Amino acid sequence: MRSNDDRDMIQVPNPFAALPSIDRMLSLPEGKALVAVYGHKQTTMALREIVDDARALLLLGDDRIFSLPGLVAQAATALEKANAPSLRPVFNLSGTVLHTNLGRAPLPTEALEAVIAVARGASNLEFDLTTGRRGDRDSHLDELLRRLTGAEAATVVNNNAAAVLLTLNTIGAGKEIIVSRGELIEIGGAFRIPDIMGRANCILCEVGTTNRTHASDYSQAVNEQTAALMKVHASNYVLKGFTAQTPETRIAAIAHDAGLPFIVDLGAGSLVDLRQYGLPHEPTVAETIASGADLVTFSGDKLLGGPQAGLIAGRRDLIEKIKRNPMKRALRVDKMTIAALEAILRLHLDPTRLAQKSATLQLLTRKQDDIRADAERILPRLSEQCAAIARVAVIECLSQIGSGSLPVESLPSAGLALSPIAGRGSGRAINAIARAFRALPIPVIGRIEDGSFILDFRCLTDSSAFAGQISALDFTSAAAP
Ligand SMILES: *Cc1c(COP(=O)(O)O)cnc(C)c1O
Repeated sequence: MRSNDDRDMIQVPNPFAALPSIDRMLSLPEGKALVAVYGHKQTTMALREIVDDARALLLLGDDRIFSLPGLVAQAATALEKANAPSLRPVFNLSGTVLHTNLGRAPLPTEALEAVIAVARGASNLEFDLTTGRRGDRDSHLDELLRRLTGAEAATVVNNNAAAVLLTLNTIGAGKEIIVSRGELIEIGGAFRIPDIMGRANCILCEVGTTNRTHASDYSQAVNEQTAALMKVHASNYVLKGFTAQTPETRIAAIAHDAGLPFIVDLGAGSLVDLRQYGLPHEPTVAETIASGADLVTFSGDKLLGGPQAGLIAGRRDLIEKIKRNPMKRALRVDKMTIAALEAILRLHLDPTRLAQKSATLQLLTRKQDDIRADAERILPRLSEQCAAIARVAVIECLSQIGSGSLPVESLPSAGLALSPIAGRGSGRAINAIARAFRALPIPVIGRIEDGSFILDFRCLTDSSAFAGQISALDFTSAAAP
C-alpha cells in the first residue's frame, strides 16, 4: 500500500525533477479508474498533456502548487470532454417541429425497436426466406407502399433529394423535362431544382411565368426531345395574388397524350389526410397518384414521421427502370432505415393507431392548453433561476410544421419568453441567455424574437428532464456589464 505521503502536495523547486511520473499517476486508484473507462493509451496521453502543461507553467515562473490527485482530476475532466459524443439529443423548443438542423421527425417507439432488432445482428435484408435465394431490400416496403399510395410499385433511397436526382436521371438523361417557372424552387441546403436537373443530366425546359402557368404552356413545350413533365410542390413558399397553376390532372393528361410520364416531387408527402387530425390539408401521395402522376417522390422524415429517406412510388415499369440505374446502388438505404420505415408505414395502415403512436403526429396535434399548462408549471422555477438577468412570462405563440410543409399554416402553441432586464446591453444579454441554454447537459434550442428568448413548449415531451436541469443554467457571461 502507498502511504498517504505519496499523495501530498508537491512543492516543486525544480520543475523538471519533481512533477509526478505518468506511471505513478496511472498507479493511483483514480488513474486506474480512468484506464478502466478510457483505455491505457488515451489516459496516458491525457496525463502527459496535463503534466506538460503544468511543467510549462512552472517554467514560466508560475508558483502554483500541483497536487498529484489534482493533476489526475484535470486529466479526468479532459478525457470526459474529449469522449463526450458529438451528436447528442437536444430539446427542440425552436417552435419548428420538423427542424432540418435538429434532425426532423422524432421516431415512434415501434420504429426504434425495429431498428435495434435488425441493427444488432444479421437480418434477411436481401435474402428471400421462401426461396433461400438473394432478395431485394425494397421488398420489405414495396407492398406497404403500394397499399398506402395506390401506386403499382415503389423504391427507397437515401433522401428525397436523391429520389428526385435518381428519377430525373433515369427518365430524362440527355432529354428535356418540362417544369413551370413558378416551381423552380430552392429547398435550402443547396437543393435547387435547376441544379439537380443539371446534375441528373437533364435539360430543364421552363414554361409559363413566375406567377402563372397554363395548360397550353405545357402542351406547347412538348417536343421530340421531351422526356417528362414535372411538378414540384412549392413546399416552402406560396404563390398568392394574380396566380394560376395548372391542375395535376391536366398536366398528367397532356403528358399521357404525348406518351410521356408525369413526375411529381411532393416534398413532405403525407400518406394520410391530415384534416382528420385537425391539421391543414397537405396533398397526399395517394391523391397525387390518383390525379395521374406516374412517379411521385417524397421524404421519409417530414410528415411521414419516419427516418431520413426518399421514397419513389409509381408505375411499375418506371420503378423497375429506376431500380436498374447504377446510381440506385450508390443511393440505397441501409437496414436501419428500412426497419424504421417499415414500422412507421405499418402504423399508417390504421389512422387511429397512427395518431396515438406517431411521435411526429403527436407533436403536431398537441393542444395549446396542454402546452400552456407545461409552461405554467415550469415558470416559477425558471423565473427564480433567471431573476438576476431576465423576466420570464408565459406566452402564446405559433409553431411551424417545418421542412417546407404547409409554409403559411401555423399551429397555436405556448411557451416561455425570457426578456432581459432593462438597462443591460439587451442584445448581448439575449445572446448570452441563448448560449446558457445551449450549454446545458441536454442543450435547449429556443429562438430569439422581438428582443426576447422564446421557448416554444410544443415539442417538450419530457418536461421533468427539462425542469431537472434548470438549476444548472449559468448566466455569468450574461450578467457581466
Ligand atoms: C424537402 C424537399 C426536398 C428534399 O428532400 P430531402 O428529404 O430533404 O432530401 C425536395 N423537394 C421538395 C419539394 C421538398 O419539400
